[in-house]
Amino acid sequence: MTMSSHKVTSLHLERKAYLYVRQSSMQQVFENTESTERQYALKQRAVALGWRVEDIVVIDCDLGQSGASAAGRQGFQELVAEVSMGRAGVVLGLEVSRLARNNCDWHRLLEICALSDTLIVDEDGIYNPCDFNDRLLLGLKGTMSEAELHMLRARLRGGLLNKARRGELKMPLPVGLVYDSADRVVLDPDQQAQNSVRHLFRTFRCTGSASATVKAFRDQKLLFPRRPRSGPRKGELLWGPLTHNRTRQVLHNPRYAGAFVFGRHCQHRGPDGRVRPRTLPRERWHTVLPEAHPGYITWEHFEQNLKTLHANACAHGHDRRQSPPREGPALLQGLVMCGICGDRMTVRYHSRQGRQSPVYVCQRDRIEYAGRICQHIPGAGIDEAIGGLLLETVTPAALEVALQVQDELQRRIDEVDRLHRQRVDRAHHETELARRRFMQVDPNNRLVADALEADWNDKLRLYKESQEHYEKQCKEARVQLSEEQLAEIAAVATDFPALWRDPTTPHRERKRIVRLLVEDVTLLRRDEITAHVRFKGGATQTLSLPLPPSAWQMRQTPQQIVVKIDRLLDSHTDSQIASILNDRGHISGEGKAFNRFIVQKIRRKYGLKSRYQRLRDAGLLTIQEVADLLHVHEKTIKTWRDNGLLLAVAFNDKNECLYPHPGPNSPVKQQGTKLSERCLHPGVLPNRTEEVQCEA
Ligand SMILES: [Zn+2]
Repeated sequence: MTMSSHKVTSLHLERKAYLYVRQSSMQQVFENTESTERQYALKQRAVALGWRVEDIVVIDCDLGQSGASAAGRQGFQELVAEVSMGRAGVVLGLEVSRLARNNCDWHRLLEICALSDTLIVDEDGIYNPCDFNDRLLLGLKGTMSEAELHMLRARLRGGLLNKARRGELKMPLPVGLVYDSADRVVLDPDQQAQNSVRHLFRTFRCTGSASATVKAFRDQKLLFPRRPRSGPRKGELLWGPLTHNRTRQVLHNPRYAGAFVFGRHCQHRGPDGRVRPRTLPRERWHTVLPEAHPGYITWEHFEQNLKTLHANACAHGHDRRQSPPREGPALLQGLVMCGICGDRMTVRYHSRQGRQSPVYVCQRDRIEYAGRICQHIPGAGIDEAIGGLLLETVTPAALEVALQVQDELQRRIDEVDRLHRQRVDRAHHETELARRRFMQVDPNNRLVADALEADWNDKLRLYKESQEHYEKQCKEARVQLSEEQLAEIAAVATDFPALWRDPTTPHRERKRIVRLLVEDVTLLRRDEITAHVRFKGGATQTLSLPLPPSAWQMRQTPQQIVVKIDRLLDSHTDSQIASILNDRGHISGEGKAFNRFIVQKIRRKYGLKSRYQRLRDAGLLTIQEVADLLHVHEKTIKTWRDNGLLLAVAFNDKNECLYPHPGPNSPVKQQGTKLSERCLHPGVLPNRTEEVQCEA
């Protein structure tokens, strides 16, 4: 100090001394008070160098602010302002040299110090930035300290990596795994936690999807443990509902497969300057040591799970590879390939007569490139054919499947029961502990005794609740088993075809059975539908199915009705035919009652000869022809017809008629005679009334 004190001149002492106290984060402020003390000790230094105590200005309003930039740091800006106006004789700070190297703000401050002849003091000494040697020293020290920092980090990281390489690095473990007293990884001794993890893996294996696993836990009212790594309840086992995210974390975590893994994530700094963890692909993990410690599943099982998750994810993505079985009735959902372009086909449902009927559609082009649908094939017939194929070709395998299903059901129920029982046991145990604590306390110590008693009461209540919950759950499980499931299980074990055909078997189960047996089905629609079935074992089979009738074909008029209409046309008009058919209880192809328009449409469509043509063919004359023949006006013909002087036959419902040849006794004009007295053909009149009736 004495060596450097010659740098301090009266010129410096006339101005003030600025002590800049800096801490980067709030946490440092709290935890690293020692460094704060060191910073304030610098104040004594300034006094020793000759500054008066009242001339020392402490700038510490930047405590808790990040040093990344000067923006937002009021204190630092104030310091720079004071220095640049030449009011500061000296700037005191901790590790100024390091800051001068790393922090461009500080670097600028040093330059300003040089311009305004301001000294710099840190724990090591006094520097005059105007002096070349001092500037060199500051720079060197900065470089050294940066190098030191780097070495320190590298050494730390190196040691870490070495340890990781040997699998000895102690890392936070996922719930269900803990370190024992010798720092070895073991399964959590808490049986309930252990079984919950096991149950998750088992449920995932059964359902094949993370969401279905979450749903199963929710339906069975099961909770999943977690162990917070920070916060007030750090390290405790907490129970809560299982979430989808959590399920995925568990399934993706290789430690459950007993593997030691290091470097699954890396830090990635985003454009906003925030650091986010990023998951690396498997081949970039630093260390993977399978079978490093006990686990819940095997490594193969772990990889299988990842594959399933990947396949599920792909079901929503680019290549819709096998999606998990869903609720809809389309048996081959997720298994159908397009025989034209080789893409995976999707399912659409149409509602037909109140029932959902599937259509397999190849629409990748349409979705991706707004092109045309490649092909679409009605699915009902195909599903039925595949079902039939399974029934006849894989009977022994089917029995096996059925037995497995039965086993699985029983095991699942047992498992759930066990987990619930454990919860009751735990609650009982805790009640017992609370009771003992209460008994041991000195009854005179009212406050403690009261608190313990309240705790005991709480525990008792929880115990009772969990017991009731368990009993309710048991009853539900028993009811399900005793009535429906037992019968079903028996049926499954003995009669696979019956189970298959049973309408109460959920579509999802049927699909799962198909997936056990069939790899995929390639469909091609030409003159008929060709279905290439590829079984899991590699065997293939080709089915040919007729094209199902299209919608319009299904709405066709039955052939016998057409024949009937043809016959009726000989002696009836369209509306007469319609009412005759309705009287006999027939309905049209669309399921409607007949009317003259429908009859007319059918007549035209099937090329049936019209009533007009039939009557003409039989030699009947038009009104024009009769009028010409009898040398009278058409009106006269109508009058004669209406008064029964001429025979006429209606050929349509507008009462337009054709006339048989009047023959030699044709009526002639007789003025002065009443028409009613000249009636020649009394039969014509009633005929006409009938027609009018029909028209009504
Ligand atoms: Zn296609």
